Amino acid sequence: MTAPSLPELEGPIVLDEAVPARAPWTAVVRQGQTLRIVDLEGNQAVDFLMYAAADDAERYSAQDTIAAQGNIFLRTGSVLMSNEGRPMAVVTDTAVDYHDTIGGACSCESNTLRYGHHTKSQHACVENFLQGNARFGRGKRDMVSNINWFMNVPVEADGALGIVDGISAPGLYVDMRAEMDLVVVVSNCPQINNPCNGFNPTPVRMVVAG
Ligand SMILES: [Zn+2]
Repeated sequence: MTAPSLPELEGPIVLDEAVPARAPWTAVVRQGQTLRIVDLEGNQAVDFLMYAAADDAERYSAQDTIAAQGNIFLRTGSVLMSNEGRPMAVVTDTAVDYHDTIGGACSCESNTLRYGHHTKSQHACVENFLQGNARFGRGKRDMVSNINWFMNVPVEADGALGIVDGISAPGLYVDMRAEMDLVVVVSNCPQINNPCNGFNPTPVRMVVAG
């Protein structure tokens, strides 16, 4: 399978790392730098939080982002807003039609509710977020609604949500430019009970440039 070629990023590459399947990942992305996430093998949900580096009381807000753009999907041009109503980052380019920010993050507890008690011991995004955030002294009370890059959560006419087969593919990407210094916390989603990762969690690639 040949992945599509990636457009060139502006500025020097300051970081280029693979995130193993099921793993957490964190980075500081400076104002003006671009973070690129590449869905290496396709249909891999990347659960994503970000905090203002200067004061982490300011953090990503799905509600403010949706209200500001008047749309529930994240696409090229979407401005990712903080809980203080300030732009944190802008989606400058993506090869995927849209991304989700309402489906939330999987947890051992939600897995148990949805898929049965035998899933309690399976690793989940909330645990990855807690592990990533612990590096910065943050805990459960710092968890907020997240972005799910590459995840397909359509909303039906009656308002019902679905978590269905993905619309991403191997080598597709999303680029976002930081509008302030950011601490980014990612869970490379370990979910194996629904199609959000094609029932097979895979690695993703992180590039920071500028
Ligand atoms: Zn997950």
